[in-house]
Amino acid sequence: MSDFVVTNARICDGSGSAWYRGGVRVRDGVIAEVGRNVAPCGGVTEVDAGDGMLAPGFIDIHSHADFVLPLHPEGENLLLQGVTTIVMGQCGISPAPIVPERVLQLDEYAGVTRSGRKLKWDWQSFGQWLSRLEELPLGINVGSFIGQGTVRLCVMGFASREPSQDELCRMRELVEQGMEEGAFGLTSGLAYPPGIYSSDAELEFVAGGLAKRRGLYLSHMRNQADRSPECVEATINVGRVNRIPVQVVHLKAREGDRPGMAAHLFGIIERARAEGIDVTVDQYPYTAASSTMRSLMPKWVHEGGVAGIVELLSDPVRRRPLHDEMAASERWQKCMEHGDGPRGIVLGQLPGTPQYTGMNLEAVAKDMGTDAVDALLEVILKNRGCDQGVYFTMTEQDVRNVMVNPLVMVGSDGGIALRGEFVHPRYCGTFPRVLGRYARDLKLFSMEEGVRRMTSLPASRLGLTRKGLLRPGMDADMVLFDPGTIADGNDYEHPTDPPVGIESVWVAGRLAAHRGRLTGERAGRVLRF
Ligand SMILES: [Zn+2]
Repeated sequence: MSDFVVTNARICDGSGSAWYRGGVRVRDGVIAEVGRNVAPCGGVTEVDAGDGMLAPGFIDIHSHADFVLPLHPEGENLLLQGVTTIVMGQCGISPAPIVPERVLQLDEYAGVTRSGRKLKWDWQSFGQWLSRLEELPLGINVGSFIGQGTVRLCVMGFASREPSQDELCRMRELVEQGMEEGAFGLTSGLAYPPGIYSSDAELEFVAGGLAKRRGLYLSHMRNQADRSPECVEATINVGRVNRIPVQVVHLKAREGDRPGMAAHLFGIIERARAEGIDVTVDQYPYTAASSTMRSLMPKWVHEGGVAGIVELLSDPVRRRPLHDEMAASERWQKCMEHGDGPRGIVLGQLPGTPQYTGMNLEAVAKDMGTDAVDALLEVILKNRGCDQGVYFTMTEQDVRNVMVNPLVMVGSDGGIALRGEFVHPRYCGTFPRVLGRYARDLKLFSMEEGVRRMTSLPASRLGLTRKGLLRPGMDADMVLFDPGTIADGNDYEHPTDPPVGIESVWVAGRLAAHRGRLTGERAGRVLRF
């Protein structure tokens, strides 16, 4: 079905304009016509939308699918949400560029996104990685950023020191080269090693590799709690110094850290925009965060990578003082405070200790007959880098305070999840949740505005000039959904249950998903900036 016409739809074109009743003609994977009077002619197939809402395919500007995509390129949990494009390489971690002597460290480190050492690792440069992706039967379109952590790992391993002038220049060159080879920009993950060891000055210098092509700099900030204001300033400053666009990712603004936090942070962001700095935000629509459990450990333990942590935790003499240091640390105390104790940490998919998957840390500690910190260390040890947790740290009001701002686009911060896996529900529900819960039910904004934040807004941010709008000449990536019923069909207990109300999803004019099932079409392409 390469040529077809969708009729009787509410056209929600991605611009944020009010929907209108009409149709779309698709020819050879491209939108040929959009309007009120699009009618089938000459034997072309007609798809009656049944008064459903037709929108551009959703773009996930913040995806951690990198290490699972080669094994599951169909992207089922994404297509079922209406997502037709993802951009990976987030929070400082990308599979490329990489050098052979660092592959093992990166692979172990990426265990958090369940690499499981099944990847071939037969690439080095960023361009080679994109070429490998091109060989996959992709169900969705994919692009990628370069991870600053990966770049630092290549040049300096997990060393917790300042780079030399020579190392600085090599890191910047790797960024510049990645941009030449098709990266959309650079991401940092400053709460994780090795980005955790990078100073603001280092980041400003290395991001200079984006300046020539005006690549986008995205930052998972050093602190997403009480020190968020200075971290937002630091992110903006990378844009100011290098004259590049920047984005604060998965923004959290906890009133508990500072009354009026969201208003304060958006004040900083809007002043920077008035000054001419191109800064935007993304967010996932949930009150729980998700990250490695390792990230709750003190900064110094990460120096030897995952192998170093395993060695340290296997040695009772060194483990005891680490336990005490961690229990007394501000990071741990804050985590306990935000989540109302160890009940606020729920353990994710754990291949080494499957009996604890989905349990909260309080229950795990009780089962082990030890305290929460020790239980956490034991789980980290047994799972060798594959230690994702879910942290209940925000209030519903915190989420809404960020979401109402029109500069905020939707980014899942999830990736690929298979049915029955225990992941954060954002993997399978983010996009329908924004439209169903926040647009329709809570009326934070209109349905059209919700769609804009997952289509034309990220497309313009990424320079994807053929995506994000239903207009003639654009790629025919489209979603047909029922605005009356669309919803995330999952929750924290059943995170991979599929969404509700998504009728059809087309990638490049080919029907990829229909009524909750994939059709087997693999029309995804690799996108280059
Ligand atoms: Zn992140």
